[in-house]
Amino acid sequence: MNMWIEKSGHNSSIYKLNIYTLTTEISLKIETLMKAAFFYGPNDIRIKNIDTEIRTDGESKLRVLACSVCSYDVRTFRNGSFKVTPPVILGHEICAQTITDYKGKNFSIKSGTRVSIYPVIPCFECWYCNNNKYNLCSNLKEIGSTVNGGFAEFIRIPNRLFEIGGIVPVSDKISNEEAALIEPLACCINGINQIRRGDFQSIVIIGDGPIGLMQLILLRRLFPETNVTVIGKIKHRLESARKLGAHRTLEVTDNDFNPIIDALKKSDEDRAPNLIFISNNSSTSIDLALKIITKNGKLVIFSGIKNQHNNSNTGTTRLDPNFIHYNQITIFGSFSSNPENLIEAMDLVDSGEIKLSDFITGTYHLKDLTNAFAFSESFKGLKSVINKF
Ligand SMILES: [Zn+2]
Ligand SMILES: [Zn+2]
Repeated sequence: MNMWIEKSGHNSSIYKLNIYTLTTEISLKIETLMKAAFFYGPNDIRIKNIDTEIRTDGESKLRVLACSVCSYDVRTFRNGSFKVTPPVILGHEICAQTITDYKGKNFSIKSGTRVSIYPVIPCFECWYCNNNKYNLCSNLKEIGSTVNGGFAEFIRIPNRLFEIGGIVPVSDKISNEEAALIEPLACCINGINQIRRGDFQSIVIIGDGPIGLMQLILLRRLFPETNVTVIGKIKHRLESARKLGAHRTLEVTDNDFNPIIDALKKSDEDRAPNLIFISNNSSTSIDLALKIITKNGKLVIFSGIKNQHNNSNTGTTRLDPNFIHYNQITIFGSFSSNPENLIEAMDLVDSGEIKLSDFITGTYHLKDLTNAFAFSESFKGLKSVINKF
């Protein structure tokens, strides 16, 4: 550069070049700094400016466009989590934009493409990874939990996520906020896949939050002839459930399940539920499920259950093995998702079969993240999304 200046020997050129160099330096500096919301411990989120330079080979940096709040984020914010070692950036329901081209063995993508992100970082070495069950990886790392997530301007992801189909392009028809909800929808698809080949006389979903309502939509599609009942506590959500196709909703008041049990027992015996989804984080839901489930019933524990007594994320419940045995009850777990679930979720939204826009009831700036958490736990809406940074 200096040699060129000396050669030109023209003052105005030197002036122009200096300005150019200065602005380039400034813009590079801005690109490498980002605002991020760090979780430091219960009720302690700090917005910080940090360096985003890629330090490790095999990583890509993406610009976050939207990140929605999951009840896991709120639970962790309030109580911490056995999985989380602060400080860490939470947020795993992410729509982002590529800022460089990526060309790999199985997958290529152009810079400037909007994508939904699979928030699991597998080890690619264990039995589960070798059998494409990345969500069960023995050395699992989770974006927004054990590694930095989406409540930030940028996110770094390992390039191997591209190669396993974990970076899913978003079509023009889908908004950034809806694209952030592809991840929870994918988790619901993974839950439904546990029982996809079942034959059910009636279905109960315990939980009227966004997850319960997404499961309702999926179950109505899969078993259009089967009655679905949604049990919940929030009137406007139960109303949404009816609009989304629930045949019946039952409202729990004062944590008293007896009226619910009575209402379900009044149903014809052949309509008693033999598929129950636990779609909230309360261990009392499992107690309720075991009281209402009928013979040959299948119970899917979808949500992480919080302990009622000490607020940790390791809830326990008692069950009678003879009840399970004599009634031939099966209990399924369902955790997170796999890339093919994200792709299926994206197709369902892209084709218009599932509309996610109704789930978005609040959008927030990153600096107001704790307000977004508070709104989520107020149960006034459904999904809060951070879409300004
Ligand atoms: Zn989530
Ligand atoms: Zn693994």
